[in-house]
Amino acid sequence: MDASLSLGASRYLVPFDPRQVPQFRFDVLVLGGGSAGGTAALRAAEAGASVAVLTKGKLLEGNTRWAKGGLAAVTGSRDSFDSHAQDTLDVGCGLSDPKVVQHVVRDGPRALNELLDLGAKFDREGNGDLSLSREGGHSHARIVHAHGDSTGIEIQRALTEALEEHPRIRTFERHFAIDLLSDPDGRVVGVLASNFKSQRFAFAAREVILATGGSGQLYRETTNPDLATGDGLAMGLRSGAVQRDLEFVQFHPTCLYIAGAARVLISEIVRGAGAELRDKNGYRFMPDHHPAAELAPRDVVSRAVFERMVATEDTSVYLHLAGLGSDPHRAFPAVSRIARFFGLDIAKDPIPVRPGAHYHIGGLAVDMDGRTSVPGLWAVGECASTNLHGANRIGSNSLLEGLVMGNRAGRCAANAAFDGTVSSLDHLRHESAPDALHEVELNLDDLTYSLKSLMWRDMGVQRSGPALGEALKRLTFWARAVEALPLESPRAWELINMLTVARLATFSALGRCESRGVHWRTDFPVPGPDAFHQELVPNLVNGFVEGVDLRRVAVTEAQLLRE
Ligand SMILES: Cc1cc2nc3c(=O)[nH]c(=O)nc-3n(C[C@H](O)[C@H](O)[C@H](O)COP(=O)(O)OP(=O)(O)OC[C@H]3O[C@@H](n4cnc5c(N)ncnc54)[C@H](O)[C@@H]3O)c2cc1C
Repeated sequence: MDASLSLGASRYLVPFDPRQVPQFRFDVLVLGGGSAGGTAALRAAEAGASVAVLTKGKLLEGNTRWAKGGLAAVTGSRDSFDSHAQDTLDVGCGLSDPKVVQHVVRDGPRALNELLDLGAKFDREGNGDLSLSREGGHSHARIVHAHGDSTGIEIQRALTEALEEHPRIRTFERHFAIDLLSDPDGRVVGVLASNFKSQRFAFAAREVILATGGSGQLYRETTNPDLATGDGLAMGLRSGAVQRDLEFVQFHPTCLYIAGAARVLISEIVRGAGAELRDKNGYRFMPDHHPAAELAPRDVVSRAVFERMVATEDTSVYLHLAGLGSDPHRAFPAVSRIARFFGLDIAKDPIPVRPGAHYHIGGLAVDMDGRTSVPGLWAVGECASTNLHGANRIGSNSLLEGLVMGNRAGRCAANAAFDGTVSSLDHLRHESAPDALHEVELNLDDLTYSLKSLMWRDMGVQRSGPALGEALKRLTFWARAVEALPLESPRAWELINMLTVARLATFSALGRCESRGVHWRTDFPVPGPDAFHQELVPNLVNGFVEGVDLRRVAVTEAQLLRE
């Protein structure tokens, strides 16, 4: 063990007595209906399991819906699995596990075919072949896309329809999962949830799959939708699950930056088509930073953009599409529509852009089947860490990972469910904390904004030891204040989950005294001599999460938890 962080948090966010609320029973319970959760649910149901899918918003909402550029998969005759694998490893900066990379890459065409079988319509060339584009870090055009730059909408549509039609799947939209329920041996046996009318439900299941997506809402600047608050990571922690490499947060270098507008992502595909990044003086700066210029890996572009903003004392840099050979309005209809809304014509006007939190690379540590360290609990998609992405994620590999791992975890969880029985939840109860402060009120919106600003400033693109240390103290202070109150609304549960994930990620960032991939420390500007992962191991005692121990795991030993 290398360091410890004291948490002193309650195992459960709210008091409950399963005998007092309606109960449901399923073989497999999936929290999340995006690319990963949707796929896991379909595979579990196809294997014969009864499946429930809970989503805190509508089924169609989530990061998957927002995916732009596409899905990386080897389909072209000039491309190869080894090339895709090598590109993934190169961008991963020494922390991608070659075995996981090979598995995910080789399973890509099958995952793509399953989507096609569900009726997903990807863009095609005139001869009927899939239209393939190229993104930063990829040495071939291998990105399958839909509606130009709105791929996620099509994938989510196809998955949602399949989920709704499957006779063994029941969907529960707008049901917020508050906590995983554990039996006295620590096995996860169900979930406590609250619906949009604040009614509580207990779901019993033999196997529970977390597919709750990302945590971009921890940051003031983010491409993620509102529901990306890291709930799965916080719930997983409270149930005792090991987390891995939480310091690695990928920032997308080109988010539309217009005061008051949502930070809409402008996909790499636009740079792939020839768009250039220039500062306010018209200077094209990317060739100074990387031979691939605008198509350098995202961390390189994000840092360059950040440095340029500081050097020019500007709030953004500018993406120029004027020199593109083709009509940008036709090639990028979504970007065109949004820019036009703000009075910009992308064929002529430079688009102001800056980095935004985009993808949480770290997550719940899982093996090749998606098993976490806690019996009965699985994790897939953005909330999981398989060691595919390493210290940096190559574009369009996350949808791929979600589909491939969702497939595997869904089948394995269903098989595991057939070997056991669904436990009764009746004996599980949690009393309210006797010292909860009912007379104090906190302004949750104000605190949430403060948290997001702090994370953007101190845990953002650029980090340093002293700033991280101060941030951790401030986060701990806020978390203690919120935890002392009765937590009774989804906003309060989200805030405590965000504070939990923020503390864990900041603690991990302090522990990593080097710069590697997306983790840039100004006080340790180069990679250390040995590549290592960082695992956070929760310490659960008598209904409390006392804290986490930070464990450094050398890359050679950091293979899968249970192979
Ligand atoms: C703007 C944008 C563009 C992107 N472009 C690409 C791209 O081109 N290619 C690519 O590969 N990746 C891209 N990504 C990343 C990719 O979209 C995500 O990593 C991926 O979709 C995550 O899928 P998921 O299934 O893990 O989670 P999500 O799709 O985010 O689904 C999460 C699910 O969990 C549910 N949930 C969360 N918390 C709770 C709770 N407490 N209770 C109940 N349910 C809960 C949500 O309701 C939702 O259904 C992009 C991301 C963004 C934001």
